[in-house]
Amino acid sequence: MLFDNTQKAYHLKSDKQLQKAYYLFQLISNQTLVSLGSWFAKIALKLKLPVAPIFKATVFSQFCAGLNKEESLSLVEKLKAYRIQSYLHFAAEESKTEQGMDLSLENTLETLSFSKESSSLPFSVFKATAFGPISLFKKKSAKRAFTTIEKETWGRVLKRIHKCCETAKELNVNLLIDAEESWFQDAIDEIAEDLMEKYNKKTPLIYTTLQMYRKDRLDYLKKLQDKATKKGFKIGIKLVRGAYIEKENSRAIQSGVSSPICDSKQLTDINFNAGLDFILEHHEECSLFLGSHNESSVQRVIDWMTKNKIEKDHPHIWFSQLLGMADHISFNLASEGYRVVKYLPYGPVEEVIPYLIRRAEENTSVSGQTPRELSLIQKELKRRKTSAF
Ligand SMILES: Cc1cc2nc3c(=O)[nH]c(=O)nc-3n(C[C@H](O)[C@H](O)[C@H](O)COP(=O)(O)OP(=O)(O)OC[C@H]3O[C@@H](n4cnc5c(N)ncnc54)[C@H](O)[C@@H]3O)c2cc1C
Repeated sequence: MLFDNTQKAYHLKSDKQLQKAYYLFQLISNQTLVSLGSWFAKIALKLKLPVAPIFKATVFSQFCAGLNKEESLSLVEKLKAYRIQSYLHFAAEESKTEQGMDLSLENTLETLSFSKESSSLPFSVFKATAFGPISLFKKKSAKRAFTTIEKETWGRVLKRIHKCCETAKELNVNLLIDAEESWFQDAIDEIAEDLMEKYNKKTPLIYTTLQMYRKDRLDYLKKLQDKATKKGFKIGIKLVRGAYIEKENSRAIQSGVSSPICDSKQLTDINFNAGLDFILEHHEECSLFLGSHNESSVQRVIDWMTKNKIEKDHPHIWFSQLLGMADHISFNLASEGYRVVKYLPYGPVEEVIPYLIRRAEENTSVSGQTPRELSLIQKELKRRKTSAF
């Protein structure tokens, strides 16, 4: 099977790095350990205890591209040698003061500018709530009116977002907008739709994200496609299952309403496949950015492309995985000629710790993927040992 070639998957990793990755995945597959570790790290961060060296020596090198531009671009070039493209994200979580949000804009613009130095950075990304207070996203999503001061603040939020889009357009870099929690996603959707209408007249420059664990997303996708056809713009869709399942379900229980999330993993998968099929059927005017580590989902797209004689490097079909995860998918797909983009977070260790905690937690809760990672690493270590004789 395509994804089983571990020699290709771990080309970039030395024996030592591979062994380290194995121990790391073993550690983070232990739910109790991760819960305790995350709890401790969050407290340590609040108390400003020096935990950065622990992260630097463990999860940082697995999941982060580097501390700065130079280290990150060096990895971009290494991946390029294997036909894997990249998108970088300064993964720090800035404060939600006006100053902090301006800093988020500066960081996003700086990251976008790296594309001038590499031909292997076709995308960039932002989280809309990095540019504005979440309270306003919630209020807008609940269709409640803004006060005069809030209107001014919201104006600045939109200005920051438009600045990112203008810069992306100038640099010819596609821009992904992350999807977030459902209780303020409507405001993000509204912004994303306006941006697609403005910037995607000829090609999909702006990509919105759809979380298919949400029951309502297939209908939303169809309505969005309908709107795009009527108004004459292209849509770019980053299709994911969704990262906030625990938060979404517990909020629904607390509020006494039914959860917006599909009732089982199987139902999420059905919804996801339906979204995938819909986008593929409309691939001329709708571009797919598949953000998934699920082999069946990736295989579904490949099978469809083969059946419909679609070229492997079709400009409207992209596959994406996070750095340090699912290399067996990324490297094997890229070597076959498909368009693969790796998500590369970077930044000073202290600042990316919240991202690293989320990665560790995700690897624990998504129990299906860690055993697969472990068995593939083990297989490659064994292969290297026997081929050395
Ligand atoms: C490149 C990239 C970009 C991403 N961007 C975003 C983003 O912008 N926003 C975002 O929210 N997430 C994002 N994610 C994370 C993504 O949503 C998933 O959490 C993660 O990729 C795991 O899903 P999977 O398809 O890889 O794997 P799988 O292992 O097949 O699926 C796991 C997912 O299934 C769903 N699920 C699990 N159990 C249940 C259950 N009992 N009931 C219902 N559903 C269930 C959850 O969504 C869970 O994350 C991104 C992921 C990647 C790779």
